[in-house]
Amino acid sequence: MADKEFDVLIIGAGPGGYVTAIRAAQLGFKTAIVEREHLGGICLNWGCVPTKALLRSAEIYHYMRHAADYGLSASEIGFDAGAIVKRSRGVSKRLNDGVGFLLKKNKVTVIWGEALIDKAGGTADGIGQVTVRKTEKPAAQPALPEPRGTAEPGIYRAKHIIIATGARPRALPGIEPDGKLVWSYFEAMVPPAMPGSLLVIGSGAIGIEFASFYRSMGVEVTVVEVLDQILPVEDHEIATLAAKSFKKAGIKILTGAKVTALDKAADAVTATIEDAKGVKTRETFDRVISAVGVAGNIEGLGLEALGVKTNRGCILCDPHGQTNVAGLYAIGDVAGPPMLAHKAEHEGVICVEAIKGLRPHAMDKLKIPGCTYCHPQIASVGLTEAKAKALGLDVKIGRFPFTGNGKAIALGEPDGLVKTIFDKKTGQLLGAHMIGAEVTELIQGYVVAMQLESTEEDLMNTVFPHPTLSECMHESVLDAYGRVIHM
Ligand code: FAD
Repeated sequence: MADKEFDVLIIGAGPGGYVTAIRAAQLGFKTAIVEREHLGGICLNWGCVPTKALLRSAEIYHYMRHAADYGLSASEIGFDAGAIVKRSRGVSKRLNDGVGFLLKKNKVTVIWGEALIDKAGGTADGIGQVTVRKTEKPAAQPALPEPRGTAEPGIYRAKHIIIATGARPRALPGIEPDGKLVWSYFEAMVPPAMPGSLLVIGSGAIGIEFASFYRSMGVEVTVVEVLDQILPVEDHEIATLAAKSFKKAGIKILTGAKVTALDKAADAVTATIEDAKGVKTRETFDRVISAVGVAGNIEGLGLEALGVKTNRGCILCDPHGQTNVAGLYAIGDVAGPPMLAHKAEHEGVICVEAIKGLRPHAMDKLKIPGCTYCHPQIASVGLTEAKAKALGLDVKIGRFPFTGNGKAIALGEPDGLVKTIFDKKTGQLLGAHMIGAEVTELIQGYVVAMQLESTEEDLMNTVFPHPTLSECMHESVLDAYGRVIHM
């Protein structure tokens, strides 16, 4: 095969794209990946990873301020916003370099530039074609330098083309981010200084993580959510507990409310906020974060000319990533919700294994966990109580609070709850919902249980180590069946 011809060509080197590329190379495919801006995509550069670095600084600052609770003393506690951001950027850069290393190690050709699909591989000769041009999109700031050793823009051919172009911040009319007073997640990640007050519009995972970070750093934070609960995809009971915790931490939460206008002054923004009854109030903030969701990057790829079906800004495809056009596939954020890095990675692996003819299992979106790394953390998998009931399922529900767990008390983290939902008839674990310390690490236990189709018996017969927070998971299952011990 010539240097510009590949078995698999992937557009976009986010977690979906680069993991797919590595798996494709493992499967023996001659593989290329096109990237226009940053290896690791949003996740490593502007999403999952740098937020967790910021939140780690916030967590340590929180514990420093509560040192006396642990019999410790700490004086002159403070922070350097620039140093916090620098650390976060450094973490991203390190992982971004790591992706370059992994792609090289797996002999994946990295092509630097913006891809346009001229032709899909499902046509008569079975070969698709992509034109890669020099990147025209202005880089997210600050731009990373182009990695060394990448292939030049040009015309490339491949039998299979996988679109993994991700997503970008969605903007609502009238509250579009301007990069100065109204931030998207790009600017919120690199604040030049901490604002005195902040309005966060939208209470999904991204909005709540920023609200939690900034509040921990002492900022006056208000969250406005148009729906009647924050964290709208989470179980209502858990979201209610989260709202209570955030209010206790000093975050003002307005649900069933919307921001209808933003009036900008030189260094402040006055928001018009309308409540559920239509009553309007005006409040002034130093900065605003627009966190109203993301939209798939479907533009500029030539999809219309190829007749690729899209819906609400995302590419439609089957559970193996196949679009309606032969030889063309889509994975990750651009292939629709849930827009999560681990979903993108898993979809990519399934897609390329299906191309190889390995008959992988189809993507089961119900078994994709979701985590929000705020304080306290939130994690879930499967059906919420409301969804299970709406499906007409007869359920058994277990609950166990962190107050009954020795490790939680020893950690000084008694606020938390583990809720499990079982099918009364079959004992199948339908969903698990958690709030509290380290639940983002714990949730995987239930994900494995669901994947293995464990019954309540299996979970009750499993030995959980003591003392650990994971014992709350055991107790929650026991509670569903009237056998709880420590409550
Ligand atoms: P992306 O990561 O968006 O990557 C797509 C890549 O394609 C980009 O690098 C882009 O430059 C490139 N590209 C686009 N168009 C072209 C083109 N025409 N030519 C060449 N290249 C192109 N998810 C989690 O699971 N956990 C979290 O904790 C989490 N936290 C988040 C926090 C924030 C603030 C944000 C914004 C997101 C967070 N996410 C989190 C979501 C996560 O970042 C995304 O789900 C994930 O990055 C999607 O991966 P992807 O590969 O589909 O796309």
